[in-house]
Amino acid sequence: MVYQTVQRKNPHLVGLAARHLQSLRRRDFVAGAAFIDGRWVATEQRDVVIDPATGEEIAYVARCGAADMTRAIAAAERSFRAWRELLPARRGTILRAWAALMLDHLDELAVLVTSEQGKPLVEARQEVAYGAGFLDWFAAEGERAYGETIPSHKPGSLLQVRMQPIGVAAAITPWNFPIAMITRKAGAALAAGCPIIVKPAPETPLSALAVARLAEEAGIPSGVFQVLVGHPIELSAPLLRDERVRALSFTGSTQVGRLLLEGAADTVKKVSLELGGHAPFLIFDDVDLDKAVKGAMAAKFATSGQDCLAANRIYVQKGIYDAFINAFAAAMAELKVGHGLEAATSIGPMTKSSVADKCRGQIDDALAKGARVICADQAPNLGPSFVPPTLLCDVTEDMLIAREETFGPVAAVLPFDTEEEVIARANANEMGLAGYVFTNDLRRALRLSERLECGMVGINTASFTGPPIPFGGWKQSGLGREGSRQGLAEYMELKYVCIGDLAA
Ligand code: NAD
Repeated sequence: MVYQTVQRKNPHLVGLAARHLQSLRRRDFVAGAAFIDGRWVATEQRDVVIDPATGEEIAYVARCGAADMTRAIAAAERSFRAWRELLPARRGTILRAWAALMLDHLDELAVLVTSEQGKPLVEARQEVAYGAGFLDWFAAEGERAYGETIPSHKPGSLLQVRMQPIGVAAAITPWNFPIAMITRKAGAALAAGCPIIVKPAPETPLSALAVARLAEEAGIPSGVFQVLVGHPIELSAPLLRDERVRALSFTGSTQVGRLLLEGAADTVKKVSLELGGHAPFLIFDDVDLDKAVKGAMAAKFATSGQDCLAANRIYVQKGIYDAFINAFAAAMAELKVGHGLEAATSIGPMTKSSVADKCRGQIDDALAKGARVICADQAPNLGPSFVPPTLLCDVTEDMLIAREETFGPVAAVLPFDTEEEVIARANANEMGLAGYVFTNDLRRALRLSERLECGMVGINTASFTGPPIPFGGWKQSGLGREGSRQGLAEYMELKYVCIGDLAA
């Protein structure tokens, strides 16, 4: 259906992704085999990979089942001892080799990401570099998994706290960052000494499988890193049930996060969840308008809005409200909607049709409730997966867009009067991933950074993620942290050791 619409209206987009994939030097990147216990496994059943811009079928991948996953768990368990006993420096060397191979293949990996995810190629290239950065960073951090010595409360004894790898880990990853969300989890797990099994999103398996090819080439031993594509429930069931899987890391919707948390309860796994966001972006009268517009553009439209850090509610103080709307609308008019593989594109298609539908639903709801729309409707004929960047002004808290995550290029702007009022409105939500404050008043910035109920705050910046920072949310935005030394700890257990009877 999508394909037919696009074929009729935009013949120049048809075959674009397929041609790019055909021109890849690395034919194995599109072979589609799963990676289990160091082997490339073809299955009888296959899943199709779609170009989200056109709806065309562009590749096929092995569809693994529960029995394949159980084999993968057994392989991971077998590989655990040798991997944990490697010196951290040696594990680090392998992780660095993997990162280097990703950078060597940056262009080809970026083509895979754009072809199946839809983001503009320039952003796909950034994602590959960002993703490789986690492997590099954790390569070193694994050598710093220090424990502690505790001043003893017992005569003649020594008290130690050690950090030890937890065991087999599993990662269920999303489609919006199909490479970086894998390396952020795998970098930490492998550096900690744990094998990890990845179940990527069904929409973006090629990126995951290509990264696995490079993991193999980097020298990661059999069973230590595995990738299985298939039906999410069928593949996650053995992961949840099996007591050999000790840690589960998930990035995706809060709804699925709750299910996995519940499913992991039986075997009491260590669970880390990076879930939805609904970031408030606060702009005060005293701010430099250009900087605020630049920040809001970056925070709203990166990854075509399909980003858990996206500015979902842009609160603007009344003194600067009209000026901000005008400048923001002018900046939005520069955005170019198109196929991610076209050079000028800054906003690609929505990866999933459900996301495009949700955007349209939020726009309709806001208009029905009195929002004003300013929309550069530049993509009327591109196809149903495209959502033109849309600016909704005078948004109120009763509108869906003010209450739930958008995950697309629709910007909601809400006026406010006072700091006290806006912090209450910003915090009145069950999500708490990120928040942004734009002000030139240092004391106000510090006050708000204290009071915002979220895991990450950007003051006068929209750019703050990266390997060294603890990425994660408060409230229903998640549990645990990724990246940073806290992210390494998600794959480790503490062990307290008391060495007694030392008195001479
Ligand atoms: P999702 O939560 O359904 O998918 C994320 C991952 O979970 C995928 O690998 C998927 O295959 C897997 N999954 C889905 N259902 C599962 C189940 N029952 N058991 C085990 N695994 C399961 O997300 P979605 O439906 O693709 O996107 C919906 C919304 O989720 C988005 O609009 C956005 O709000 C949010 N989301 C957030 C992030 C993030 O970065 N935090 C990423 C993707 C989606």
